[in-house]
Amino acid sequence: MLGFRSVRRAPRARLLAAAAALAIVLAEGALAAPQNVILMIGDGMGFGHVEAARLYAGSPFAFEGAPHQAQMTTDSYTSQQIGGPTDSAAAATAMSTGRKVHNTVVSVAVPGDVSELETLGETMKARGKSVGLVTTSYLTDATPAAMAAHALIRIQTEAIADDYLNDTRVDVLLGGGANGLMAGAGLAAGYTVVSDRAGLEALGTSAPGPVLGLFGDSSEGMPFEWDHARGTDPGYDTLPFLHEMTSSALSFLDDDPDGFFLMIEQEGTDRAGHQSGSGIDRIGRDVFAVLEFDRAVEAVLAWMAGRDDTLLLVTADHETGGLEVLGDNGVGFLPTVSWSTSDHTRTNVPVYAFGPSAELVSGVIDNTDIRSIAIVPEPGTILLVAVGLAGLAARGRGRPRISGGTEPSRPRAP
Ligand SMILES: [Zn+2]
Repeated sequence: MLGFRSVRRAPRARLLAAAAALAIVLAEGALAAPQNVILMIGDGMGFGHVEAARLYAGSPFAFEGAPHQAQMTTDSYTSQQIGGPTDSAAAATAMSTGRKVHNTVVSVAVPGDVSELETLGETMKARGKSVGLVTTSYLTDATPAAMAAHALIRIQTEAIADDYLNDTRVDVLLGGGANGLMAGAGLAAGYTVVSDRAGLEALGTSAPGPVLGLFGDSSEGMPFEWDHARGTDPGYDTLPFLHEMTSSALSFLDDDPDGFFLMIEQEGTDRAGHQSGSGIDRIGRDVFAVLEFDRAVEAVLAWMAGRDDTLLLVTADHETGGLEVLGDNGVGFLPTVSWSTSDHTRTNVPVYAFGPSAELVSGVIDNTDIRSIAIVPEPGTILLVAVGLAGLAARGRGRPRISGGTEPSRPRAP
């Protein structure tokens, strides 16, 4: 008899317990969706890149003090099928859509039915939030593209630009010009277009509407910070650094009472890793790219100070160059390093997390987990689930009064 009773009661008890647990979680706000989500990606920035830059800087970076940290696996569908590392398109697609695709594919189901996979940008737009993309690469490059656009092949930059401007309607686009995203198309779509630091600063802290910043016209993206520091490239005399683009994007996006999603990418860490040889420029460009990335993180953390409504994830899409630190040469001196390749590697990358939902980042996660961490159900959704479970439990309680015995969901006695 006891066994019989416990078997019949177990589902109802479990439902009630689940509803109660969810109600507690809801009350504590532990699973409440963050108002704002900021995803920062050092393209190609593996552990070795962070270590090399830390030795130059002489102390740990602010992001290394994140309360929640993990390693992340970076394989694409291609990696799993035939080996080799992911590219930035498949890696960003995994983070944005939660799906592994073939290398070079931008948020489209390949393998699969070639349908468009919902991006983080689109999900956040559907929740009424503003969306921003900031990068030191050209804006139509694969990493920002997979956050808010779709293309069978990443080189379809005009289609990516059209998705940004006319489909997803990304609110803030700041990065390198060239490669498919033209000022004229932005103006035609109602964007305010700026092309240098002065133009960006002239906008102040409130955007008049959607903003498109096209900084420079190099097909490779914006210059290396190292080259500017060495006096060999004057680009940043007039172009905004990553941390300046970051601060401007935050000041525009935080006007939205519904919150925002902002992706910020440093591309220089990848471009340096793709170079060959072991000359000083390669590690110099890499270290200075990480240093500038850290300045952008600090700008975000300064903006977040005193707030508890923003999730910040700092990570990489993959490692580039197989960088290993061999020796510390002291503060202000580049460390001695080795590079094992001019390509990407399959090495795990770091993830640093701050704010609500950050506790979901621990141990070893996969790149496809980033989407679910970033889009934790909104509070209303959790409340509905809790009410639904409680309702199911209540229905179970009333069941004995139902006559006929044909109820399909009624648990059978053993
Ligand atoms: Zn790369």
